[in-house]
Amino acid sequence: MSRAVVALGANLGDRGSTLRAAAAAIVALPGVRPVASSREVESVAVTLDGPDTTKPRYRNAVVVVDTDLEPQELLDALHGIEDTHGRTREVRWGDRTLDLDLVAYDDLSLDTVTLTVPHPRAGERAFVLAPWHDADPDA
Ligand code: AMP
Repeated sequence: MSRAVVALGANLGDRGSTLRAAAAAIVALPGVRPVASSREVESVAVTLDGPDTTKPRYRNAVVVVDTDLEPQELLDALHGIEDTHGRTREVRWGDRTLDLDLVAYDDLSLDTVTLTVPHPRAGERAFVLAPWHDADPDA
């Protein structure tokens, strides 16, 4: 089994309910077992132009799991969960009901057209690092 870290974010709809439903759906995936989950944090929306306080704020969390899914299989399953929550993809970094990012997968470094691990921007984002630290203080 591999250890994977998934970051969750939502800035539309009932954000807390969406995060909790998504976290439950992630750990219910075949081949996935829960390890730890963080508290929820609030953050300012980040757009292609930078932080934007006029946009709805995000609620974020991190879920740590063990999985025997391959990284791309896990990402595909995460996209399925995003779709279940009405995620659309018109605007890159636009508002979203649910965003799921694969932050890390063991110590793997991977860079394909569809998947970069570790997530290239996770290290700059307090809304990923703070909940990750909450879920796994040794991370
Ligand atoms: P986003 O708008 O942030 O949900 O971006 C999703 C796109 O980023 C998808 O097309 C993914 O294939 C791609 N992507 C690349 N690396 C990752 C990653 N580590 N986690 C999530 N999506 C990724």
